[in-house]
Amino acid sequence: MHTLISEFSREVLAAGEAVFQIGDTGDSAYVIESGCVEVLVGATQPQQRVAVLAEGAMFGEVALLDRQARTATVRTLVPTTLVRIDRAHVDELLVRADPVIQYLLRLLLERFRSSSGKSELPPTLPPLSDHTAFAPPEDLHAAAVRTLSLAHDLSDAIARDQLDLFYQPIVRLTDGSLAGYEALVRWRHPVLGVVQPDEFIPLAEKTGLVHRIGQWVLQRATADWPALRPTCAANAGVRPFVSINLSAPELCSAGIVDAVERSVRNAAMDPQELRIELTETVIISSLEKVSASIASLRAMGVGIALDDFGTGYAGLDYLQTLPFTAIKIDRAFVAHMHAAERSFQIIKSALALARQLGISAVAEGIEDAATGALLSSMGCEFGQGYHYARPLPLGDIVGRS
Ligand code: C2E
Ligand code: CA
Ligand code: CA
Repeated sequence: MHTLISEFSREVLAAGEAVFQIGDTGDSAYVIESGCVEVLVGATQPQQRVAVLAEGAMFGEVALLDRQARTATVRTLVPTTLVRIDRAHVDELLVRADPVIQYLLRLLLERFRSSSGKSELPPTLPPLSDHTAFAPPEDLHAAAVRTLSLAHDLSDAIARDQLDLFYQPIVRLTDGSLAGYEALVRWRHPVLGVVQPDEFIPLAEKTGLVHRIGQWVLQRATADWPALRPTCAANAGVRPFVSINLSAPELCSAGIVDAVERSVRNAAMDPQELRIELTETVIISSLEKVSASIASLRAMGVGIALDDFGTGYAGLDYLQTLPFTAIKIDRAFVAHMHAAERSFQIIKSALALARQLGISAVAEGIEDAATGALLSSMGCEFGQGYHYARPLPLGDIVGRS
């Protein structure tokens, strides 16, 4: 892993040089690697020195964040090396930041500017499409409020029976027969309607609620399995299975292996009928703990699939060292495999790798017959996607009585 700092450029300045002056455009921030600088304010000469900053200090970040002109002059006192952080890097980080953080940051900047009597922020910052880091304030405010209220309401979601588990069929690509299901959680919010896991699982990970959600999913999926199993086609090769997704904090928790064992036993399920899907971020987050959990789950007979294969950086390494039983090829590649040669080649290599390792491959996000047929002809055994079926509530699969 490379550190961000190595990507930044350095500036070496002699003593007495200005880094920037009042009125300059604020397009970068600086960290002092060696040397020191003085911070001067005041429109008339001589300016007043308000601070001396030494090695390790950062300056220039306010104008960088709020896109206003510099309100101070910074000058080196001795020969000084600066690490320059330019706007593009910060914008990239900001657009990915949580909306609550973005909103709070904006409020802080506004307060900072008004308390220091400097220019006010413009009423609306330019929109994201103009390649600026912040969304318009009303959008930011709405997103921040939604995130905060979802985080709050989520704590009651299980107790109020608002979670639901949908099942998406996974088929054999050769004949379309049903091999198993992936369990995907949904949240029926009383006011906002159905909230998708991409939105609330990351929140649950931050608040720790993901453990309770994970337990709920595990129990529900194993309890539903006796009803689902008969809907799968019998096949000598692979037992029918139900897959669940686990996130990093869940797989690292001490009780996960016992919890899986208990649930499997309670449902009179063969452990081979349960599959756990892990993304690479789950693995990277805590390799040691995760490896131990994976080894115990494998020893029990539970299958382990590497999810979103191809999207991370180190998938190949993990495939060699951890006992995966399947890889799931990310839908980003599947969606573009007809048009983009690169996606096609990545899928081809993934399939070759799965064959070499003797593990199965599941392609996600198959949305038309041609894609399914192409993947099948390339040797991909399993597939899932809207072409076969969307994630469905249990009642739609087994029929309501
Ligand atoms: P994932 O594991 O990659 O799940 C597959 C996602 O692709 C699902 O979205 C599914 O609805 C969607 N999908 C399936 N077929 C197609 C298709 O043909 N085209 C397109 N465009 N999409 C398709 P969903 O259900 O919104 O889940 C999103 C993510 O949330 C999942 O990605 C998984 O990472 C996470 N997730 C879902 N359920 C759970 C859970 O119980 N626990 C944890 N920790 N994470 C979960
Ligand atoms: Ca998955
Ligand atoms: Ca996936």
